[in-house]
Amino acid sequence: MRIDAFSAPTMVTWQLTRDCNLACLHCCTDSAPGKALPGELSRERALKLAREIAAAGVPYAMIVGGEPTLVPHFAEVCRALSEGGVLLKIETNGMNFDPAAVEGLKIRSIQVSLDGATPATYARQRPGGDLAKVLETCRRIVAAKLPLEITFAPTRLNIHEAERVIALAAELGAFRFNTGKLMRLGTAAKLWDRLQPSAEQYAEFRALLDASRAPLELCYLPFSLEEELTGRLAQPSGTLLILPDGRVKVFAALPFTCADASRHSFLEAWDAYRRAWRDPRVLNALERLAANPALAAKANAWVCLDSISHDLPAVV
Ligand code: SF4
Repeated sequence: MRIDAFSAPTMVTWQLTRDCNLACLHCCTDSAPGKALPGELSRERALKLAREIAAAGVPYAMIVGGEPTLVPHFAEVCRALSEGGVLLKIETNGMNFDPAAVEGLKIRSIQVSLDGATPATYARQRPGGDLAKVLETCRRIVAAKLPLEITFAPTRLNIHEAERVIALAAELGAFRFNTGKLMRLGTAAKLWDRLQPSAEQYAEFRALLDASRAPLELCYLPFSLEEELTGRLAQPSGTLLILPDGRVKVFAALPFTCADASRHSFLEAWDAYRRAWRDPRVLNALERLAANPALAAKANAWVCLDSISHDLPAVV
């Protein structure tokens, strides 16, 4: 595997919390107000982990949630990573993101979710959300000269506004628009029949993306989990996904965790991750998932592989 040659992950995706100030119908992490996990990392543990990530030479980290800005030590974690040389992408719903919190840090981009072009559609998919407030945040991000990305999760509720959201993203000054098929994970899986766009809607959406001449980068490949799995089965990603309590996930759409960054060192977790990709339980589950993507609905009921003590082939 290519990852065997890497002494550290090429990227870390770190879910700081499951708490959120919105309760989106399509949320893939089951986040919502008051949903912080009981064992989420304390400030001290989170800062220790941030320093380990930087010391390992990880070049890039995505700070996500839930809503990461709700974590009291959000800015300190970002600063520790940045000062250690890690370039950051921060994913936020934009409701209370303050560009001043990341002033002077190494920021690759701030990604804001924009799941509607009209206040009614936006609020329907993102209960608790306020489109005007989020648009104002986007303007402040661009005014602070921070690179802005927009992400759009298509559902039956908002897919008809996709073209207007792309235009809005360009008008706001975003350099990139990210999208793809809705993931059958978390809250989205529970509300799947209500949210999943029809085949016709997806075909129109894909044609819109393929034909778009909008003056920003459109990122939508791989378009579906099935397409992503084809690549993953051939070559695991060099990305480590850290959950809010420090556990490390093998793959977002599978339930398996392979290490716990609050008990193991970051590099031990990286070794466990690489071993996990040789574990027959993981490989079998990936094949079953490729045949039946609906199985992703169980991905947030985490199952520990315990691969640190498991007798698997050593990483060379
Ligand atoms: S999709 Fe994002 S903003 Fe919405 S509930 Fe989930 S974490 Fe919060």
